[in-house]
Amino acid sequence: MIGRVPPRAAPGQFRAKGEAMKFSIATVSLGGSLAEKLAAIAAAGFDGVEIFEADVLAHEGSPAEIGRMVRDQGLEIIAFQPFRDFEGMPEPQRSRGFERARRKFDLMAELGAERILVCSNVSPLALGGIDRAAADLRELGDIADAYGIEVGFEALAWGRHVWDYRDAWEIVRRADHARVGLILDSWHALARKLPVDPIRAIPADRLTFVQLADAPRMEMDLLQWSRHFRNFPGQGDMPVDSFMAAVKATGYDGWLSHEIFNDRFRMASPRRIAEDGERSLIWLGDRLEPGRLPPRVRPEAVEWVEFAVSEDEAAPLGHLFAALGFARVGQHRSKAVERWAQGAINLVINTEPEGLAHSHQIVHGPSVVATGIRVGNAAAALERAEGLRMAGFHQPVGPGELEIPAIRGLGGSLVYFTDRDSPLGRVWEIEFDPVASVPTGPLARIDHLAQSMSLDEMLSWRLWYLSLFDFETTPQVDVIDPAGIVESMALQDADRAVRICLNASASERTLSSRFLDEFFGAGVQHIAFATDDIFAAATYCREAGLPLLPIPDNYYDDLEARLALEPDLVDQLRAHGILYDEDEGGRFFQLYTGTFQDRFFFEIVQRDGYTGFGAANAPIRLAAQARLARGSAMPRT
Ligand code: MG
Ligand code: MG
Repeated sequence: MIGRVPPRAAPGQFRAKGEAMKFSIATVSLGGSLAEKLAAIAAAGFDGVEIFEADVLAHEGSPAEIGRMVRDQGLEIIAFQPFRDFEGMPEPQRSRGFERARRKFDLMAELGAERILVCSNVSPLALGGIDRAAADLRELGDIADAYGIEVGFEALAWGRHVWDYRDAWEIVRRADHARVGLILDSWHALARKLPVDPIRAIPADRLTFVQLADAPRMEMDLLQWSRHFRNFPGQGDMPVDSFMAAVKATGYDGWLSHEIFNDRFRMASPRRIAEDGERSLIWLGDRLEPGRLPPRVRPEAVEWVEFAVSEDEAAPLGHLFAALGFARVGQHRSKAVERWAQGAINLVINTEPEGLAHSHQIVHGPSVVATGIRVGNAAAALERAEGLRMAGFHQPVGPGELEIPAIRGLGGSLVYFTDRDSPLGRVWEIEFDPVASVPTGPLARIDHLAQSMSLDEMLSWRLWYLSLFDFETTPQVDVIDPAGIVESMALQDADRAVRICLNASASERTLSSRFLDEFFGAGVQHIAFATDDIFAAATYCREAGLPLLPIPDNYYDDLEARLALEPDLVDQLRAHGILYDEDEGGRFFQLYTGTFQDRFFFEIVQRDGYTGFGAANAPIRLAAQARLARGSAMPRT
């Protein structure tokens, strides 16, 4: 018996060993009402929240009721924030600052919040002066003491005089008050490219708490960058790991709190964003102290791709596979499931009238319902996925059948794990009767899978894949579609055994977005097969009656001029409708089928050392597909 799905990891399970770090998230990071946010935060497994003042002001109930809502969810309020423009003010603003603070402390007493985040002054009135700021914070500490409140001081990257955490620390040090500590925020330190090693010299007991955020590398105004583009560690480009390593070196074991300002996050489902946040922290902990989870999963191959189709669609899909050179080589012993194969590629057609494949087909139409990924150890892969709080999947198996470890992936589809060392490696033998039929096509293996999703899901799936698999990511590229821009990024292992391209578009009319509409959600949009002879593949498909995507003549005229290709080669490319690209590594050839019932299509590639995905050709391909939008990939025979 293989890979019984263990119960979902209890919150905190993977950070319990030897440390007491607790996870929090600021309410500002999520969209929805305060009640929705708190429910999502609790469900994702967080221990605490930072309550943003705007969330209190926008709520109809009293602060005391908010406090109860938080505690009813099993959460702790770790801080109330922000308190702005306080330190280093001239009179009368200085006195007013203390008055404001007293009112906030009253509100916090009602809320049940014991820490306040004071961010460095951005007011043009601020006078500066380390000792002046220290004196103000000392006095604030005296007032806070009467309330039992701790004051945490944070340097904003755009602070008027204090924008470096080292200056904020000097102020806190000189304030010399038991109620006044320092708040470190990875974003403010890293956006300013400040060195993080000086953090190691700060005593842990002077850190009020630590905030985490990442962001994509961008050249822009600090405030705009921070307010709109922050994301979770693991989703951006900042060296958050070095920051956290320095924090840990102090011995700090208190609260870690996400503070993410991002418009896309606030528009998305609070549940998904909260889950991403928890996953980000679990993975961060795993990177800093490996060993609590099995290591990131090294994918060895896409073992199979499984299509869920209705009975009526199975025959046309089979014809399409046959025209690509696949043969039906296996029939499942007890289910309406066929195995088609060629080279190292396995395609599965599932027409079962019950189960996940069927419900997937009802919702999405003919579609990829699952991919089987071969890994070193399937059980360990499942354990890591569960540790990252990914949803396991179970459905009843028949006698003698394998229980293949599976998790829910993109758009409700499944990712199965298989390996060579357990009986899973013999799944074709164990579950399928061989069919006497031999593949005759020139396709060798799966080159990549392309998945379409909405723009707001892209960072979620990037984190999902990168935390689970030992993948690296390529820089995001923008591809021009006739109806808008498609954002595209590839995830791949070091050996390039498995490559997955994520595509998303904000425009509703791009091919990527139309796919989402027709498909009712995210999923596999195309599968690229690798061949060692693209011309043989093109000839094979054409002779089998499979229409390939027609490419305009102008493309070839340009190609000849642009890349100085031999005219003979260009003639051959033109004759077969093959797209061409090259990079330092070598040459790349691509051709495409039409779409199957407007749902998905196939690509055939030959890469002679080339490392990309033909981004230069994508606009040509997308324009050709747009012209054929209602076309069919069916063989003419
Ligand atoms: Mg902050
Ligand atoms: Mg492709």
